[in-house]
Amino acid sequence: MTELTKLSMAEARAGLRAKHFTAVALATAHLDRIAAHRDLNAFVTETPDLAIERAKAADARLAAGQAGAMEGLPIAVKDLFCTEGVRSTASSRILENFVPPYESTVSGKLKAAGAVMLGKTSLDEFAMGSSNMTSAFGPVINPWKRASDPSVQLVPGGSSGGSAAAVAARLALGATGTDTGGSIRQPASFCGLVGVKPTYGRCSRWGIVAFASSLDQAGPMTRTVRDAAIMLGSMVGYDPKDSTSANVPVPDFEAALTGDIRGLKIGIPQEYRPDGLSAEISKLWEDGIAMLRDAGATPVEISLPHTKYALATYYIVAPAECSSNLARYDGVRYGKRVEGKTLDEMYARSRAAGFGTEVRRRILIGTYVLSAGYYDAYYIKAQKVRRLIADDFAKAFETVDAILTPTAPSAAFGLGETDDNPITMWLNDIFTIPTSMAGLPGLSVPTGLSSEGLPLGLQLIGRPFDEETILKVAHVMERAAGFTAVPAGM
Ligand code: GLN
Repeated sequence: MTELTKLSMAEARAGLRAKHFTAVALATAHLDRIAAHRDLNAFVTETPDLAIERAKAADARLAAGQAGAMEGLPIAVKDLFCTEGVRSTASSRILENFVPPYESTVSGKLKAAGAVMLGKTSLDEFAMGSSNMTSAFGPVINPWKRASDPSVQLVPGGSSGGSAAAVAARLALGATGTDTGGSIRQPASFCGLVGVKPTYGRCSRWGIVAFASSLDQAGPMTRTVRDAAIMLGSMVGYDPKDSTSANVPVPDFEAALTGDIRGLKIGIPQEYRPDGLSAEISKLWEDGIAMLRDAGATPVEISLPHTKYALATYYIVAPAECSSNLARYDGVRYGKRVEGKTLDEMYARSRAAGFGTEVRRRILIGTYVLSAGYYDAYYIKAQKVRRLIADDFAKAFETVDAILTPTAPSAAFGLGETDDNPITMWLNDIFTIPTSMAGLPGLSVPTGLSSEGLPLGLQLIGRPFDEETILKVAHVMERAAGFTAVPAGM
C-alpha cells in the first residue's frame, strides 16, 4: 500500500472517484508511513482514529456520489489551527494541553470538502522562526540530506516546518501552513514543495492562533502546483467571523493552469540581488528567467526601491502585534498556569514557564516599540514605511503581471549550524517579507537543486487577489524545470 503515498493529490482524487482504492486504504497507507517516520518529529499530535472515522465517512459519500472537492484526501494540519476536540498547541508549552471547543474556519472548510486530517504538525513556537527549532516539542528533521554528508540533520525551514517535512516525506498528500513573513514559502523551498501564501484576506484567520494579525495568512503546502490549486480552492472564502476577510469571488484555481503564459510580463526586481547573493541562487534565478522567456513570457527589469527597509519594518510590526496578541496567555483563560502569591506573580510565573526564548524576545521588542515615547518613533514610522513598500509593488504592477525572485537566500541548513545571533535567522525571510508587508499573494515553486542535491525554490508574487496568475506561471515553471527529485531513501 505504500504506493498510495506516491500519488499526487490530483491522482489520488481520480483514483478514489474511479474506485481503484478507498479513502480508508489511502488514510491507512499514510498513517503507516507517519508511524514509520516518527524520527522526523513532524507531528505534535497524530489523530489516527479520527482519520479512519473521517475516511469511512468519505467512502460513504464517494459511494453515494456526494463527494466534496477534497473527498477522502489525507492532509496534515499545522498545529496553529484550532481543531475542535483535538489538542492545538502552537508548539508552545503555554498551550500544551489546550483542546479547543471550536474549529478554525480554514480547517473546517477542508473538513467540509471531505479532506481527512491525519494529525497536527509541529511549527516554530507561535510561528516565530525559520527553522522549526523554536518548537517546544523539539526540532523537526528535513527528509532531504546533503549529498556530501547524509548524516547531517537539516532543518525543514519554518515556521511551517512540520507540515513541510510531512509532505516532503509523503506522510500526507498536502498540509496547511501559515505565513506571516515567509513561513509557508521558505519551508516549501527547503523541502522541495509548492507553498502558497494567498493575498491577505483571502483565507479566514478565525480560529488560527494569532501571531501578527495584519500579516498572518493560511495557505497550502503540496508536492505539485495542481495540488496547491486544489487545496487552496477548499481553504479560501469570505468569513464574517474575521473582520479582515475579503468578500471577493472565489475563482477556480485549477482552471487557471492553462499552460499558456505567452505575452505575460514578469518583473525582475533589481533590489533582490543583494551583494553576497550566492552564485547558486543567482543561477537558479537566471534559469527561471530563461524558462519564462522560452514559454513566451517577457521578463522586465523593475525597481522596488523600499525593499531594503522591509526586514527592519517587519521586525517592528510583527513583534508589536505579537506582544499584543500574546497578552491573552495569562494563566487564567488558556493553558498553563503556575501559581504565585499574588495575581501579578501568577501571570509572570505562568508566562515565564510557558513561553520560549524567541517568543519572549519578540514580546519584549514589541512591548518596547509600542510603549509611550517610542510608539511614534518606531511603530508609526514602520507603518509609514510599510505603505511605501506596498506602493512600490502597486507601481510595478502597473506594468508587470507577476514578479519572480528567489524564495530564500540558501538551501536548508544544518540543525546546529546557525550561530546564536537571531538576526542571522531573521535574514532567511529577506525575499518573502516584502510581499507579506504589502499583503500580496506569493508562492514558492521548486525549480532546481543545490550543489549538495538540496531543493531550491523560486518565488512568484502576484497582484492582490490574483493567485491565478502566479499559479499559472508556477505550473509552467514546474514543467520546464522538470523537478522530479525526491529525498534519498524516502
Ligand atoms: N521567519 C519569520 C519570523 O520569524 C516569519 C515567520 C512566519 O511567517 N510565521 O517571524
